[in-house]
Amino acid sequence: MVKMSPEFSVAQVPDPALRLALDAEALAQNWHTLDRLSGAASAGAAIKANAYGIGARRAVPILLNAGCRDFFVAHWGELADLTGIVDPSMVSVLHGPITDSDAEYARRLGAKPVINSLDQARRWNAAGGGRCDLMIDTGMNRLGVALHELSEPILQQLDVDVLLSHLIASEEDNVLNGVQQKRWVEALAAIPHARASLANSGGIMLGAAYHGDLTRPGIALYGGIMRSDMCDLIRQVVRPEAAVIQVHDLNAGDVVGYNATFTAPSPMRVATVGMGYADGYLRSWSGKGLFRHGNAHLPVLGRISMDMVILDVAQAPHLREGDWVAAEYALPFVARMTGLSQYEALTVLGARFTRQ
Ligand SMILES: *Cc1c(COP(=O)(O)O)cnc(C)c1O
Repeated sequence: MVKMSPEFSVAQVPDPALRLALDAEALAQNWHTLDRLSGAASAGAAIKANAYGIGARRAVPILLNAGCRDFFVAHWGELADLTGIVDPSMVSVLHGPITDSDAEYARRLGAKPVINSLDQARRWNAAGGGRCDLMIDTGMNRLGVALHELSEPILQQLDVDVLLSHLIASEEDNVLNGVQQKRWVEALAAIPHARASLANSGGIMLGAAYHGDLTRPGIALYGGIMRSDMCDLIRQVVRPEAAVIQVHDLNAGDVVGYNATFTAPSPMRVATVGMGYADGYLRSWSGKGLFRHGNAHLPVLGRISMDMVILDVAQAPHLREGDWVAAEYALPFVARMTGLSQYEALTVLGARFTRQ
């Protein structure tokens, strides 16, 4: 047996020096804005992938409090992650019942599976059925029942709450939007249902014909701006923050970081901060990222390390060990600077960030 300190399991872990700061008011306001833009429809919320990385267990109570009543996750395990936070009857699981155990789990909890195929419809019915959502494929060829399958008797037997489809290119003014909308309307006439849903974040801006009864924004809730007509409406929600670990005074000619990609042109002060590419602050920020301390701008110098970045602190010369700095992380800025999509910019943020 390896000897282990008896304290190990009980000792209080010190506060981590890395956090994903959340602006709860901005998140609530984004939901209200998207709900208002949804006209007669209500806005739900896509909260898959840990609410796009911002932390589902803290996002959901804020959204519930704002008035949101319909939540969408991808996997059954993501529903389990919300234990005690939201009533399972408000949660739809987008991947549907892939196995019989999925169907049993949904029935035991009263959560809604999204039925995506005739197979899933049969599996759900065989497990006892009950309220579910139904995904129609209007052209994406990813998930959903095809239009030519709509007359299948098994679909008529489902107790469908939300009849939904998903837009391929809602962030563009693309002819496919209209094509998909028409197919969705056809499906609405063919299958009995309680509520109709088509629009994701971008789709909300396409107008009333796309709204139905329920919209399903995701990225815009969390600060993503997918269309220029959304840029004055949506607020930034999260900001990666970390503490300074060390401060150095450099002489002219000293280099900074791996491979010496930055050389000090004159004497300068730099700070090492505990956030790196293992946290999703990727190497593509090398030499071009920006941090802030209050109003001071602190440019990233040289390469991003796995666990650290090095900043030029000329504008904040009194910065000391333990002081906190924040990465500039408005999602359109991240996308422009790194080439990531705004979705990836959020979901890439790692597990070491506290999300409290
Ligand atoms: C992820 C997802 C959404 C949300 O899309 P955004 O572009 O993030 O608004 C809506 N519906 C379905 C089916 C999804 O998978």
